[in-house]
Amino acid sequence: MRALLSLAQLNATKNNRCLDRGMSRLQHDVVIVGGGVIGLSVAYALSREGIRATLLDRREFGREASWAGAGMLPPCSERPPAQPFELLRSWSARLYPKWSDALREETGIDNGFRRTGGVDVAWTEDEENALRTSAGRWRSDGIVFERLAPGDYVRVEPALNPSLRVVYYLPDRSQIRNPWHLEALKTAIEARGVRLRPGEAVVGFETAGGRVTAVRTEHGRIPCGQVIVTAGAWSAGLLEMLGIQVPTPPVKGQIVLLRCQGMVLRRIVEHGRMYLVPRDDGRVLIGATEEDAGFDTRPTTQGVRDLLDEAIRLVPALADAEVERAWAGLRPGSIDSRPYLGTVPDFPNLLVATGHKRSGLQLSPATAEAITDLVLDRPARIDLSLFRIDREPAPASDDVFRS
Ligand SMILES: Cc1cc2nc3c(=O)[nH]c(=O)nc-3n(C[C@H](O)[C@H](O)[C@H](O)COP(=O)(O)OP(=O)(O)OC[C@H]3O[C@@H](n4cnc5c(N)ncnc54)[C@H](O)[C@@H]3O)c2cc1C
Repeated sequence: MRALLSLAQLNATKNNRCLDRGMSRLQHDVVIVGGGVIGLSVAYALSREGIRATLLDRREFGREASWAGAGMLPPCSERPPAQPFELLRSWSARLYPKWSDALREETGIDNGFRRTGGVDVAWTEDEENALRTSAGRWRSDGIVFERLAPGDYVRVEPALNPSLRVVYYLPDRSQIRNPWHLEALKTAIEARGVRLRPGEAVVGFETAGGRVTAVRTEHGRIPCGQVIVTAGAWSAGLLEMLGIQVPTPPVKGQIVLLRCQGMVLRRIVEHGRMYLVPRDDGRVLIGATEEDAGFDTRPTTQGVRDLLDEAIRLVPALADAEVERAWAGLRPGSIDSRPYLGTVPDFPNLLVATGHKRSGLQLSPATAEAITDLVLDRPARIDLSLFRIDREPAPASDDVFRS
């Protein structure tokens, strides 16, 4: 760990080329297993510190949950929130515009980061009460919002059904086009010398003296100094091979993509677990179901119908849109809907960053920075104890930003 730190620092000066070449094996010594948004982001953050990891995926990079997601991002807090989970979220929200600019500069790829603003809506009294509770938390975390007076919805989002009971406007709600973001990350890390190995599934690990010494893949063995498991819903199965119990149950989410004539909708609309995300080419994503269906990723008629019905109820003009496509992805669950971040007890060179469930896209930059701190043995910037794999489950709480 210390050796990596000093190498990273030396490498960052960029004038130690000989040393760098001589130590190149050590450079690829960090092996990241799973190249969704979490693995790609960790590889990116490490590469910015001079660590060129090896990144493995059993298929193409970023084709699972990270591709399937909607790309909604929460607003940034004006002051640091009190809770560790909200701190992680707020840190990530602050990093997104910076990462988006840096990625565009490095790769020429626009990741679609847009501050489109959003509305959270309620039909019933119970939903109104739930939103009022969320608004109390937004206020204490310094999140900008406005409760719109009845009849004033048109000013913010004219397409909304006028019979909605309550509408809150959050001007800083944002989004990315996640497939573009994944492409930008992949392009950036490739250019920075990260060793990319798609189509190479990890099938086991070798250990000695309480350390992981090599990763075994379908194609051979890769000796390693440090391993980071970022394999989404498949993380539990991989860690099980080392006798480590970290539940990451797949949580199926279906999405329907509509193509509209012109810009029917401009703001993100959230209603409970359901949402509409307008893209700037007139498309609208309708998400998402939440199902326990194992590793099945087929969209179903029931799932698609429920999403379409609710979308038309929220925004009646969507009844005329064309249905372009439907798909499903597998969110990596956890014991309490919070991610697992950190070093595995008893394996000091094994780290995990997984279990982000509905929030993996939004939390990916801060997750990557936090893991980079651990790899470089730097002081943690936020308290990660809430995210330990051996924690007690956090009490059930209704997330203020679910996505
Ligand atoms: C419908 C839907 C909507 C969503 N909307 C949002 C949203 O708006 N905002 C948000 O923040 N989040 C959203 N999410 C959640 C988000 O997509 C996930 O939390 C996030 O993508 C998880 O990223 P990941 O990298 O951990 O997992 P994944 O993207 O699933 O990546 C894991 C990778 O590991 C690889 N892998 C698995 N096993 C192995 C192995 N043995 N060897 C090598 N590689 C392996 C897989 O091939 C895969 O590429 C949504 C998810 C869904 C399904």
